[in-house]
Amino acid sequence: MTCIFCSIIERKAPATIVYEDDTVIAFHTINPIAPVHLLIVPKRHIESVNTLLPEDEGIMGHLFTAARTLADHEGIAQAGYRLVTNTGPDGGQSVYHIHMHLIGGRHLPFRFD
Ligand code: 5GP
Ligand code: ZN
Repeated sequence: MTCIFCSIIERKAPATIVYEDDTVIAFHTINPIAPVHLLIVPKRHIESVNTLLPEDEGIMGHLFTAARTLADHEGIAQAGYRLVTNTGPDGGQSVYHIHMHLIGGRHLPFRFD
């Protein structure tokens, strides 16, 4: 099974990439729900929170510091934003390569779907 996010990381699929370093990449979702809606993705393929290992703690922490940098660059840091990681069918996960949504640029109600 091919993974769309691995394909984006390998530049085999297109995406609007806004940030990249050794371990993390961030790009625009194809289906934004707010003026700012980025996906922050570890380059290593991890399926979901359910398959995280203790050695993944560094990369998961790095998703948060990348989110902080990106929120600042997008100009939404002070207004605020939401970081979301959906997990499994009931959590609404549709791409099984772990990722953090960075959503902002408007007031977000608790329910947003
Ligand atoms: P999930 O539902 O797993 O929490 O989030 C998956 C996210 O990936 C959604 O925001 C969805 O729009 C986005 N997405 C799915 N396929 C693609 C794609 O091919 N390219 C990009 N840029 N985003 C995608
Ligand atoms: Zn993947």
